[in-house]
Amino acid sequence: MSQRRWISLALLWGGVLLCGCASLPLHLYVPPAPIPVEERPPIFGDYKDYRGVIHCHSFLSHDSRGQIADIAAAAQASGLDFVMMTDHITPEAIAHGVTGMQGTTLFILGAEIAQANGSILGIGLKRFVEHKQKKAQEIIDALKAQNAAAIIAYPEKFRDWSVSGYDGLEIYNLKSDVQDEYKFSLLLWIAGTNAHNNVRLLGRTFGTYHQLFQLLTNHLLARNLTEEDLLLALKAGHAYVAFDLFGYVPFFLFSAGDDSRQVIMGETISLSPPLRGEVRLPERADIHVLKDGAVWRREEALFFRFPITAAGVYRVEVYKGGKPWIFSNPIYVVAPSP
Ligand SMILES: [Zn+2]
Repeated sequence: MSQRRWISLALLWGGVLLCGCASLPLHLYVPPAPIPVEERPPIFGDYKDYRGVIHCHSFLSHDSRGQIADIAAAAQASGLDFVMMTDHITPEAIAHGVTGMQGTTLFILGAEIAQANGSILGIGLKRFVEHKQKKAQEIIDALKAQNAAAIIAYPEKFRDWSVSGYDGLEIYNLKSDVQDEYKFSLLLWIAGTNAHNNVRLLGRTFGTYHQLFQLLTNHLLARNLTEEDLLLALKAGHAYVAFDLFGYVPFFLFSAGDDSRQVIMGETISLSPPLRGEVRLPERADIHVLKDGAVWRREEALFFRFPITAAGVYRVEVYKGGKPWIFSNPIYVVAPSP
């Protein structure tokens, strides 16, 4: 994807937020009540599509006053299946962070860990992570030691790309994208909501959790709505990002395979004809299939099937009325081993 497109995405975000501050309430879609988890049909094998937000702050952060009850109520009203909390890390934030089911929304404990070279989100934390005077690699290692997912937040500000072992990047900040798509290829991409409530600007308050939860969501394809299964899905990259402000996304699937095997976003498959990619959408839209970071096929469709005849990193971007709507994680097609 071109740098220009990412910049325009960033501008679009700025536009939305400014508009929100000037003319509350935001005229966002009202999500239909989601199908209850038990009744929701699987989208692939026994995986269901779970929709939620990653990167959310509460009163446990110095820069937010949000109460857990308000966040939980906003999550319910927005039909979220999960919220991954990321208060700025302190022993108190870990000790008092909310976990488990709040109504029908699963809360997972995480933290935002700032250090000299940028911020890292740890998701699925069990214990406090000492971060002062620590290098990014030490923080990532400490997160992995407690089986948490490590995601680089604000990657445009992150400075130490010598690190390894992290699971993902927060893409919506990623203004320079991936001239270097290969560098980032074995990764999960997420969109951080970075929800703080009640931002004061020009004497007005905006950015309620309910508004912020309408803007964009991360979807995880997982077996069950449990912390264990969602973390597995997160680490495996079984994920896509939905810009809900352009339309509710109840499901989406990017898969590849043949008659005998099928893989989904985040997975690797060896190239042996007749390999096909498939994109399934909830409504007709403009599908871009990218190969190694460049647009390779385009089709306006509800369902798009295409042959894959070369190894590469394939991912999907969907545009609705010219607006970015759905961004998938990649499928990796590798040459068959000799
Ligand atoms: Zn944050």
